[in-house]
Amino acid sequence: MENTFFMTFNDLGLSAELLRAVSEQGYDTPTPIQAQAIPAVLQGGDIMAGAQTGTGKTAGFTLPLLQRLSANTKKGKFRPVRALVLAPTRELAAQVGDSIRTYGKHVPLRSGIVYGGVSIQPQKQFLRRGVDILVATPGRLLDLVNQRAVNLNKVEILVLDEADRMLDMGFIHDIRRVMELLPQQRQNLLFSATFSNDIKKLADDLLHQPKLIEVARRNTASERVAQTVHPVDKSRKRALLSYLIRSQKWGQTLVFTRTKHGADRLTKQLGQDEISAVAIHGDKSQAARTKALGDFKRGKFQILVATDIAARGLDIDQLPHVVNFELPHVPEDYVHRIGRTGRAGNEGEAVSLVCGEEKKQLREIERLLKKAVPKVVIEGYKPMEEEPKKAAAPKGQGPRGRKPGNGNARPDGRAPGGKRSGYGKRTNSTSKNRGYRTPTRSKRNQAAAPAN
Ligand code: AMP
Repeated sequence: MENTFFMTFNDLGLSAELLRAVSEQGYDTPTPIQAQAIPAVLQGGDIMAGAQTGTGKTAGFTLPLLQRLSANTKKGKFRPVRALVLAPTRELAAQVGDSIRTYGKHVPLRSGIVYGGVSIQPQKQFLRRGVDILVATPGRLLDLVNQRAVNLNKVEILVLDEADRMLDMGFIHDIRRVMELLPQQRQNLLFSATFSNDIKKLADDLLHQPKLIEVARRNTASERVAQTVHPVDKSRKRALLSYLIRSQKWGQTLVFTRTKHGADRLTKQLGQDEISAVAIHGDKSQAARTKALGDFKRGKFQILVATDIAARGLDIDQLPHVVNFELPHVPEDYVHRIGRTGRAGNEGEAVSLVCGEEKKQLREIERLLKKAVPKVVIEGYKPMEEEPKKAAAPKGQGPRGRKPGNGNARPDGRAPGGKRSGYGKRTNSTSKNRGYRTPTRSKRNQAAAPAN
């Protein structure tokens, strides 16, 4: 991999119009994925990039895509779709669409976004007028194709964004159907945070001698994110959350719950504690989700409570805190969740409130991360719950879990004997090292501000 450390955007071969848009965003240095992907895409080859959200991957493909298309703008009234970006969720599609508009402000290209859950008519209308770049979720795109509202036979560049998520969400058949509608000759860009065998198979069918770009190790949580577990009884999680938000003076915070119902309930309870919160989940209409996100971004609400699916693709600048109110069932979702903080060079803090019955999930997460997450018991919130009584557990078995901060837990995940929940005692050293040196928001912003 070439040394990209001292690169500037001027070194990447981008046009003056695009450089202007980049500098208007206040970016002065390309992120590693941008430094590698931009020249490769400009050369016209296929790429397969292992990059999580938060790495700057959107600009990594959007900027060169805009440049390639604007090199030969199609004149005339009708604009065929020349670049197609497929994304797993409405939120990600909307975010990518916004980025295309932002970076493409000074080039004469039209773009559009289509996703399900909203009326199809307006989408048909703007497609009739023609767009050069279309961002779409797969299902709605196929609906539009079936209704002959869009034709994909002039696509020059195909982007699959968060391909692993698309497969997780069962879009593989839709993706393959879309691929059949595209011209054989085209450029393909595939982005994925993880590389399962299914992704590799898709890549084999889709990509032609791709350049491989890997900027974050597979399945590893961003190293910029400080992670902490606060052991706490289930019944006291809400009180602890309110306490942390206040005492640590957290600014805007994204809180994950496992269920839609849990998200609604927590939002209400935070409201009772006079902490402004709004929920975003799959049961809400698209309009309500967009409004909630917009209100949160504008600072109308301090806390955004989200479920995993709803949170995919959320792009909120400089979000300093992510809280796992409940751990996800799927360990990979933990990595996705904490990727919502520590984005693009900012520091971030991910806090998980973990009760006795979630210790199995925590162990699985730590196995995936290949390290223990430091445990810090907050004064006054020491867990009192006994280990959940499981019928299967043999009598006299010691508590499960790990000693705090100890990465060398037994392979079976059990810690040596002890009476309480198995989380161990308060670890002062950990709390000092990790703990609550949370810089103020203004300090963070200063740190993140571009250097002239
Ligand atoms: P992404 O991984 O594409 O979702 O981008 C994550 C965040 O990084 C977005 O908020 C972008 O606005 C921001 N970003 C992208 N590129 C840069 C850059 N070169 N410098 C600073 N911030 C960036």
